[in-house]
Formats: sequence, C-alpha cells, structure tokens
Amino acid sequence: MRSPAQLVDAFRAQGLKVTPQRQLLFRLLHDNDRHPTADTLYAQATSEMPGISLRTVYQTLTDLTAMGELDQVTFGSGPAHFDPNVADHHHAVCDVCGAITDVYVDGADQLAIDGLAGFRPDSASIVFHGSCASCART
Ligand SMILES: [Zn+2]
Ligand SMILES: [Zn+2]
Repeated sequence: MRSPAQLVDAFRAQGLKVTPQRQLLFRLLHDNDRHPTADTLYAQATSEMPGISLRTVYQTLTDLTAMGELDQVTFGSGPAHFDPNVADHHHAVCDVCGAITDVYVDGADQLAIDGLAGFRPDSASIVFHGSCASCART
C-alpha cells in the first residue's frame, strides 16, 4: 500500500472524495501488519475520530481493495481481514489470541506437491494454524 499522501493523490485522480475520515483510515492502514477486520479498524478509527461511520470504513476498504492497495484475506468462515502488504506472502494464525503474522515461503513453486498434475495454479496461499510465540509460552 502506498503512503497516505500518495493515496490522497490516487483517490483524487479517480474522482473519489478524500475526506478527513478517509485520510485517517489511510494512516491507520499504512504499515499496519495486524490484518484488521472492518470492525477492528472501525473501533480504532472511532477512538481517534468519534462519529466516523462504519459505512465510510467499508467503502474506503472496498475502494482500496479495488485499487490494489489492499489484499483481502479470510481464514475459514471468519471475517475478511485487510492486508496493506500486497507482496506475495502467507500467514500464520494464532488460534489462541487471533494474531495473524506474515510468513514468507522461499521457493514455494518448488515444493513437492501431489495432486496438482494438469492443474495450472495462479496463486497459492499457505495458512499455518497454531499458537503464536507469546501464547505458546503460557
Ligand atoms: Zn497468540
Ligand atoms: Zn499478510
């Protein structure tokens, strides 16, 4: 995801309005590695700017996703998480506290995989489930 200032320009170039609410969301999402849901982002935004609407949060997330600034990731039947890291990566999900961490797999295309013969993959996503370092300690 580009910087908040670059996003302001990109939104204006597309004829989209850039309100202070949207600029707050750009700032909260930039370099955010916590994979927020719309609800957690809304809670965080409300604490800084009471009165911001959930609708604005959803609309901004939809626009940023459509512009390729955010990836949307889901794990099982859970809610969508928004990821400003649009580089190729995978995730580790802590089933105790819910923390989601970025994981990089080198040579994922070299893995010994059975059952893909004849299938042409466009992408792959690996999700590790378990306990994060701080939950595993307790
Ligand atoms: Zn944890
Ligand atoms: Zn991620």
